[in-house]
Amino acid sequence: MGTRAAHDSDDVRRARYGRRRVLVLRFDHLHRPDGWIAPAWVTVDDDGFVRAVDQAPPAMGEEARFSSFTGFAVPGMANVHGHAFQRVFAGQTECAQGERGGPGDDSFWTWREAMYRVAAALSPDDVEAIAALVQMELLEAGFTAIGEFHYLHHAQDGTRYASRAETSLRILAAAERSGIAVTLLPVAYFHAGFGRPLAPMQRRFGSSDVDEFLALWEAARTVVRTGPSRHRIGVAPHSLRAVAPDELAALLAAVHGAEPGARVHIHAAEQRAEVEQCRASLGMAPIAWLAQAGGLDARWCLVHATHSTPDELAAVARAGAVVGLCPTTEANLGDSTFALPGFLSVGGRIAIGSDSHVSIELAEELRLLEYGQRLRDERRNRAGEAGHRLRRHVGRRLFDACAAGGARALDQPLGAIEVGRRCDVVVLDAEHPRLLGHRPESVLDAFVFSNSGRSMVRDVFVGGRQVVAAGRHVARDTILRDYARVVARLAEVTP
Ligand SMILES: [Zn+2]
Repeated sequence: MGTRAAHDSDDVRRARYGRRRVLVLRFDHLHRPDGWIAPAWVTVDDDGFVRAVDQAPPAMGEEARFSSFTGFAVPGMANVHGHAFQRVFAGQTECAQGERGGPGDDSFWTWREAMYRVAAALSPDDVEAIAALVQMELLEAGFTAIGEFHYLHHAQDGTRYASRAETSLRILAAAERSGIAVTLLPVAYFHAGFGRPLAPMQRRFGSSDVDEFLALWEAARTVVRTGPSRHRIGVAPHSLRAVAPDELAALLAAVHGAEPGARVHIHAAEQRAEVEQCRASLGMAPIAWLAQAGGLDARWCLVHATHSTPDELAAVARAGAVVGLCPTTEANLGDSTFALPGFLSVGGRIAIGSDSHVSIELAEELRLLEYGQRLRDERRNRAGEAGHRLRRHVGRRLFDACAAGGARALDQPLGAIEVGRRCDVVVLDAEHPRLLGHRPESVLDAFVFSNSGRSMVRDVFVGGRQVVAAGRHVARDTILRDYARVVARLAEVTP
């Protein structure tokens, strides 16, 4: 950083940028790892990566295009956990069942039955249209990358598609329209529960054995490798109840043999019943087992980790693994709250996801994460670090922690607007009524805790390309039209 570029000679500029046209974005305020700078010029190369951050206009000449944005520019956020198709029934499972006159007796498991009915009804075209809508909403909320935990692999009756990776292809086709970056996480799913065969409703998700799954994973990997460079391939053993220890070892050996850096995402300890079943079957709770016998390391992302002990979370922190928290879904499904202050105090890495997409709102996820802690502990500012200039601000601390942890969990070059990272930038509207009067230090606190109603997210860039302008995705009308068609058809075929 600095004013270096202003003094470059033509020869130096040519050596640095070649003869290609570069993009220069000017922001009134720019988020930096150590605070803010104002104003700032971000030079973006043809590959969409940041080549320079300067506090004065870089001398570029005619080869540069300049654009200027008011507001507060912050890094694009990774959303580490989502199942796109579940968005289509958001708000349709909020109806109490059980004893007449009493509160509902519904649970994660009764919600799952409704999810299976919807999953059974979707065609590949539907999957693509829903994914495009989800990705559009993610971008409008300030997420620029999604970890797609993808398990809707086969046709309705379990028949394999002619192209094994048909539905994975549709997720990436949606990303062509939305512009989001995808870390595709094909899900391995072999059992309904510890030692139990798949149920009929799970036939769309399952693989008959590790070899069949690896053929699907290899096909998905090819789809990713032949697509835009912003996409990544990882792998997702669904959970320890769906993948046995020997299967887990075999599939990880093969995946990491092919892609040593591939990220591994797994649902872990979301529900008490699952933890008890794991103890009965493997002799340990899921996270303890993963840390001791599962090969947990910095490539892993444990999704939820809700019902965990301090010892388990210390082991996760030591391994350098990320915990992917999904506060709105965890609240919606009655999971419980994650032990955040203890995990942060041992250096634990966190990231944010929206899982079922019952809500797609970055600020709301971070707000609910903190509020769950406050309600449980009867204290305030649980994620803050008293005495630290930046991290005492709870909104800033949560944002920065999830930006860094999310970049790691998705293997995406995000998390900061710095030289060498992709130019994924979210501009918060300085003229939003709830940002008026805020100095940069408290902007992210205001974003997290008072961003209700009209969103503060105004402009969004992925790899230097603007995909949201004035709060609206650039392809909003066509994406919404296609999604509306899917919803109309589903209303006729699902109960
Ligand atoms: Zn999930």
